[in-house]
Amino acid sequence: MDYDVIVVGAGPSGLCFARALADTPLRVALIEPQPESELREAAFDGREIALTHFSARVLQTLGVWGHIPAEAISALRDAKVINGLALSGMLIEHRHGNKDELGYLVSNHLIRRAAYAAVKDAPNATLLCGVKVADVSTNADAGSVTLSDGRTLRAPLIIAADSRFSATRRAMGIPAHMHDFGKVMLVCCMEHEVPHEHVAWEWFDYGQTLALLPMNGNRSSVVLTLPQHEMQAIQTMPEPDFDTEMSKRFGNRLGAMRLTSTRHTYPLVTVYADRFVAKRFALMGDAAVGMHPVTAHGFNFGLRGADTLTSGIKRALAIGSDFAAPSVLSTYERTHRLATLPLFAATHAVAKIYTNESMPARVLRDGLLAIGERVTPFKRLIAASLTGAR
Ligand SMILES: Cc1cc2nc3c(=O)[nH]c(=O)nc-3n(C[C@H](O)[C@H](O)[C@H](O)COP(=O)(O)OP(=O)(O)OC[C@H]3O[C@@H](n4cnc5c(N)ncnc54)[C@H](O)[C@@H]3O)c2cc1C
Repeated sequence: MDYDVIVVGAGPSGLCFARALADTPLRVALIEPQPESELREAAFDGREIALTHFSARVLQTLGVWGHIPAEAISALRDAKVINGLALSGMLIEHRHGNKDELGYLVSNHLIRRAAYAAVKDAPNATLLCGVKVADVSTNADAGSVTLSDGRTLRAPLIIAADSRFSATRRAMGIPAHMHDFGKVMLVCCMEHEVPHEHVAWEWFDYGQTLALLPMNGNRSSVVLTLPQHEMQAIQTMPEPDFDTEMSKRFGNRLGAMRLTSTRHTYPLVTVYADRFVAKRFALMGDAAVGMHPVTAHGFNFGLRGADTLTSGIKRALAIGSDFAAPSVLSTYERTHRLATLPLFAATHAVAKIYTNESMPARVLRDGLLAIGERVTPFKRLIAASLTGAR
C-alpha cells in the first residue's frame, strides 16, 4: 500500500477530514488538481460561511480555528426570514438557542487557508497537488486511484471529497439525487448605510431571493438568486449601476449600498448521494450531501461527516481492528444520513414553497411565517439547527 487513506479533493471538507486523522498513525494522502499555492493563498470566492457552534468546536479541536484571523470572524446574532413585500417576518433570536449568538461567519477562502495550514502542520499528511484523480476502483481488501499523470496509488481506504459534482462518486457507480433549481446565486460583499446589528436576513421576495450575512463593520455578504438570463446583466454591470440596482432590490431598507469585493456566481444545484459508502470507500462533504445554501449547512455537514467517520476510524484503531471495515463505514453511513436527511428534505421543501409565486402559494408563504413567528418551540428548533445543537 502507498498510503493508509487517500483523500480525493483538498477542499475544506477533504482538508479537515485529513487533519482529523493527524493524531493517528495513518499515512494520509490528499490529491488536488489546484497548485499548492492556490490552497495556501486561497483567493476570495464570495462565499461567507455561517458556522454552527458545533463546527466552531470541531475547527478548534482540529487546530484550524487558530489559523483564522480573529477580526475576520463575525458574530451571527439573530436571523430574520422575510416573505414578499412584508417589512418584518420571523425572527430567530440567539436566546432561542440559549447562546450569545446563533453562530459565526467566516469567509470561505479564509477557512480553506486555515485548513491548509493545519494540514501542513500534520506530520502524517502528504499533499499531492497539480494532479487529479482520473479513475478509482476498490475491492474487499483495498482501493486504488489512477492519477491524471498516469501514476496509480493504493490504500485500504479511499475518500471522495471532490465536490457535489464528484467524478469519483460517478466512477464508483454511486447514484445521487441531483436537483437543478435553474437559478444562479450571485455573492459579493457590500457596505451599507443602515447597520445590520449582526442579524442575518433570508428574504423570499417575489421574483428574487435575497440574503444578507452580517460581517464586522457596516459590511455584509450579499446573496442574490435569480434565473441565469436575468443575472447576466447584473453580474457585469458597472459598479455604480450595480450599487444602485442592489440598493433598489433591497427596497432601500439598508440605505445606499456599495460593492467592496469581486462578484461571484454559483449554480443552484443540490445533491444527495443514494449511498455514502462502498467497499473501502466513503463520500465526504458536498460529494455526499450538497445542500441548498438557504439553511447554511453545507460545510457544517461536511465537518459533521468528517467528525463521525474519523471517530469510527479511531475507535477501530484503538481496539486493533480494521479501520476501514464494512462495519465502520456502515456506521458512518447510518449516522450521517440521520444527521443530514431531515434538514436536506426540509430545506428542499422550504426552497420550493418560498419560490412558488402562485397566489395560493403566496398566501401559504405568509401564513407559515406568521405561525412560525408565534410558535416559540418552532423557533427553538430552528435555533438548535443553526447553532448545531441538533
Ligand atoms: C453561495 C454559497 C453559500 C454557502 N454558504 C454556506 C454557509 O453559510 N454555511 C455552510 O456550512 N456552507 C455553505 N455553503 C456550502 C459550502 O461552501 C460547501 O459545502 C463546501 O465548500 C464544500 O466543501 P467540499 O470540500 O466538500 O467541496 P469543494 O469546496 O467543492 O471542494 C472540492 C475539491 O475537490 C477538488 N477536485 C475536484 N475534482 C477532483 C478530482 N477529480 N481529483 C482530485 N480533486 C478534485 C476540487 O479542486 C476542490 O478543491 C455555501 C455554498 C455556496 C455556493
